[in-house]
Amino acid sequence: MTSALLDQLHATFGFSAFRGVQDQVVDRVMAGQSTLAVMPTGAGKSLTYQLPSVMLAGTCVVISPLIALMHDQLRSATANGIRAATLTSVDLDREVTIERFRAGELDLLYVAPERASQGHFRELLAAAQLCLFAIDEAHCVSEWGHDFRPDYRALRPLMDAFPQVPRLALTATADAQTRADVLAQLGIAEDGLIVAGFDRPNIRYAIRHRDNPVRQLTTLMAEQPGPGIVYAPTRKKVEDLADKLAKATGRPVLPYHAGLPPEVRAANQARFVGSEDMVMVATVAFGMGIDKPDVRFVAHAGIPKSIEGYYQETGRAGRDGDPATALMLWAADDFARARHRLGEVDPARREGERTRLDALAALVETGGCRRALLLRHFGEDPPQRCGNCDNCLDAPGIRDATQLAQKFLSAVYRTGQSFGYGHIEKVLLGQSDERVVQRGHDQLSVFGIVPAEDAPLLRALARALQARGSLLPTEHGGLMLGGDARAVLKGEAEVMLAIAAKPERTARRSRRERVGGAVNPIGDALFDALRTLRRDLAQEAGLPPYVIFHDATLREMATLRPASLSALGEITGVGTRKLEAYGDAFLRVIREH
Ligand code: ADP
Ligand code: ZN
Repeated sequence: MTSALLDQLHATFGFSAFRGVQDQVVDRVMAGQSTLAVMPTGAGKSLTYQLPSVMLAGTCVVISPLIALMHDQLRSATANGIRAATLTSVDLDREVTIERFRAGELDLLYVAPERASQGHFRELLAAAQLCLFAIDEAHCVSEWGHDFRPDYRALRPLMDAFPQVPRLALTATADAQTRADVLAQLGIAEDGLIVAGFDRPNIRYAIRHRDNPVRQLTTLMAEQPGPGIVYAPTRKKVEDLADKLAKATGRPVLPYHAGLPPEVRAANQARFVGSEDMVMVATVAFGMGIDKPDVRFVAHAGIPKSIEGYYQETGRAGRDGDPATALMLWAADDFARARHRLGEVDPARREGERTRLDALAALVETGGCRRALLLRHFGEDPPQRCGNCDNCLDAPGIRDATQLAQKFLSAVYRTGQSFGYGHIEKVLLGQSDERVVQRGHDQLSVFGIVPAEDAPLLRALARALQARGSLLPTEHGGLMLGGDARAVLKGEAEVMLAIAAKPERTARRSRRERVGGAVNPIGDALFDALRTLRRDLAQEAGLPPYVIFHDATLREMATLRPASLSALGEITGVGTRKLEAYGDAFLRVIREH
């Protein structure tokens, strides 16, 4: 790494060091080598092409799939003094942009993939000097990925016309098949692959049974005063939860789903991006294109589709590196419904879908480290414990519940696989009522077979058996055997039960950590004043506050109290351009407090 690169990193972004694999990627770009960089959300992908674009002669052409994403990037780049423009159907200054591009006055030109196939765009590129093709969300080129965009296929022929210009493809998608395909589709050699670790250490994972979602989410919102996303499975649930959470907390809460008119969706998204405390309740339609770094929590009010989906959705929390929470609320019903839907899936895909669901059930049921399970799912070899998930922080009791499960399953079997939980529980605990007696269930060998001290475990056990598919719902609300139930009954499969220690704690511990300065110092007069100034400046400029400075930068200012512009310029996140634009205003506030 040359000192010229580090100097430019400091001047443009105000950062004193590269993070993770950034330096490897930047080195390759500077050397003119083509690269596929697989980096998790929040790892700092954009810097790997933005920094070279400032240092190299010529323009970096950035292909990006969404206009909203391009405009976010444009704002942040411009705020750092990078000469950037977007060329999209909604930009009214296209003529000016083309002129600037031809004249060599742009470091970055953001375009949508549709342009790549247009002949006149190729002519335009030929008329200017290029230093790099950066392909954002590069998994869109692959049919294996989840966001295939046919337009991305036109990129290869376009780039092949400029063989001297290196390519940098960027994605957060982990799976190996997609990676190999992206390399091939974009014409990047296999040794150009750089993969960063997938861990997001600042995200705290917590998974709880959903007993009262409004109360549970209200508790989370009280712990996390910053912006958050709550994912709900249906439009109706989105509307309902948004309404209830707004009433219960008094916080700004808005809904987002595909059923809302496009202008309402756009307006809600824009308000969320600019807000420091809003909660968006949304279906998964809300996601790609949200480049907001200060999202403090992502909650799931029902189970996600798969571990891949879960990791991507929760990855939207804490891109700025500050502590963030991912909370999943699940119920046995969620799994019952998902397993029922398996029946409607094309048989060719059914096994795969079942495996996905089983993996999700294992994540929910585990008494071990959630992060370790997630990272192993993505092929990594993490430490056994992370120290920052619910199970590591408050180790649940782990109990071998195989015998109890055998009792439960045989009660379901012997009563004819048609009764619901309540009836089975009565039979097992030996409580006779009219129905029990009428059916002769008090005469069964399983009647009263569970001692009273095990009674409190029964409900959690039934949930766990439903999550793993050993119990399935009947059409009339009863329970029947499924999955590995027979293996459990024969003693060939065991059932371990994790019993949560303190069910409701998620982020509370971080209050204590705040003393260490990890999280915003509540009630610190200087920090609050700096935030107010940031809010005013943001409003004036029509920018989201985080584009001006991140919380971490304001925290450092409040702690170090720089007294001069040069001292302020040493704070992380304060580059030359921002120092010029905002330095005096922030120094004044620091002096006054
Ligand atoms: P990604 O696109 O990979 O999700 P971003 O490019 O949005 O990530 O960067 C995530 C955040 O990390 C940004 O807010 C950025 O300012 C910050 N960041 C990136 N690189 C560094 C670095 N070397 N040092 C400190 N912060 C960084
Ligand atoms: Zn853990």
